[in-house]
Amino acid sequence: MNAPSETLFLHPETPFLKLSQPFVEQVKTHPLPEPYWISWNSHLAKSLHLSLEATPAWLNVCAGRVNQAWCSVYSGHQFGVWAGQLGDGRAHLLGSVNTIDQALEIQIKGAGLTPFSRMGDGRAVLRSSIREYLASEAMAALQIPTTRALALVGSTLPVQRERWESAAIVTRLAPSFIRFGHIEHFAHRGDIAHVVTLLDYIIEQHYPQLLESDTPYIDLFEQMVSHTARLIAQWQAVGFCHGVMNTDNMSVLGITLDYGPYGFLDHFDWQHRCNHTDHQGRYAYINQPHAAYWNCAALASAFWPLIADENLLSDRLERFHERYQWSYLQLFRKKLGLQQAKADDSALIQDLLDLLHQHRVDFTLFFRLLSDLSLTDSARDATLLAPLDRSVSLFNLWLQRYRQRLIEEESQDSARHPLMRRTNPRFVLRNYLAQEAIDKATQGDFSMIKSLQEVLHSPFDEHPEFSSWAELPPAWSSSISVSCSS
Ligand code: AMP
Ligand code: MG
Repeated sequence: MNAPSETLFLHPETPFLKLSQPFVEQVKTHPLPEPYWISWNSHLAKSLHLSLEATPAWLNVCAGRVNQAWCSVYSGHQFGVWAGQLGDGRAHLLGSVNTIDQALEIQIKGAGLTPFSRMGDGRAVLRSSIREYLASEAMAALQIPTTRALALVGSTLPVQRERWESAAIVTRLAPSFIRFGHIEHFAHRGDIAHVVTLLDYIIEQHYPQLLESDTPYIDLFEQMVSHTARLIAQWQAVGFCHGVMNTDNMSVLGITLDYGPYGFLDHFDWQHRCNHTDHQGRYAYINQPHAAYWNCAALASAFWPLIADENLLSDRLERFHERYQWSYLQLFRKKLGLQQAKADDSALIQDLLDLLHQHRVDFTLFFRLLSDLSLTDSARDATLLAPLDRSVSLFNLWLQRYRQRLIEEESQDSARHPLMRRTNPRFVLRNYLAQEAIDKATQGDFSMIKSLQEVLHSPFDEHPEFSSWAELPPAWSSSISVSCSS
């Protein structure tokens, strides 16, 4: 079948494709048989001013029935070990679409084998596709840089994982899907000419402010380190755990990429591991900043042949900590409704998180409730924090310090409350909610995907009809285990 006319929206001049081999190669797709819509993200299409609609022709595109598609090669460090060549094993680049302010590349995930599929089948199951679809949009609504998800298409095609499941495809958009691993791939082979081509491309397309720089590569490295540090601080501030922070899953633009066994914290736990298969806890919540720094160090090795001065490279790498700490403090101050920076803010935040950890207090719910704290009437604290199912006395000492701090900066309830409610989400994609949506979808009922999509699109709003989703999760949610299987 020929590609439908709507594919004309796909920009044939996608810059990344012009790099051609050995960066990208043209491949065939293996479309999903009997595809059907599970979800079409009209919010996204509209916000990007894309004149795209969920037409039958687009259904075919999103199911992989296209004339042309491309894959790219990358390598990477997985769980701290060099894994060699990886590449787009199940992601096909279809081209790009021009939105109002930028061009976005379009990838479909799960349209069959590619030259980089290795032992995989090139498919993605419905379960993990729903998880990626919902999480991308939830993160975007939390104002965290991420790939976006435009469509979710299902099929009757059976796919084997631990058990038989059905195949699906997420259509995702990003300015670029280039990973640390793309650069590492060529550097590891000593192919410096191709490292240079790739870095020049990244600068030209994505960091044009560096075009005039006398030291473009070290500046580019610094930008990547800085964006990564900022992103991880943003993850920490919403309690997001990625689960597989390998260098092949780290974006050179500092956007959240490849949603596998991710999870949002329910009760706060420094050691939370969202990836069941991460036995050592390498990517546990508390370790995410260090894992990101480690990944930046791996990236530094790839830049090494281009930067004559070793000290310069390590100096830029070390800036990760400063940048991370700055972003982290800024974000947590905002979560606490603090307008001014004070020297002991770090201790105030750390002590609070230790308290939440010690008493297994729900992270999202705590900050949301705290948003309505009355400065004048501490007697109200008990009722305010009652939904946490913990005695308010646990927080008394910390609340005294916090109140004192607010009073010192002359904080006004009337101004602080709405600000904090716009910072601390009422809704995040809790694991049990994603699981319920998956269970229903497996029975052919996609209504919860739609409702979650609506609620998570504006996670700071009240959505009274879905108030139970903002409450403590049910006991069974702690038994959900998510692995790399997808
Ligand atoms: P991930 O850890 O999911 O980001 O994937 C690591 C590598 O495995 C990437 O090269 C993926 O393209 C590849 N991969 C993962 N799942 C599959 C699959 N089902 N078929 C082919 N390649 C896959
Ligand atoms: Mg990946």
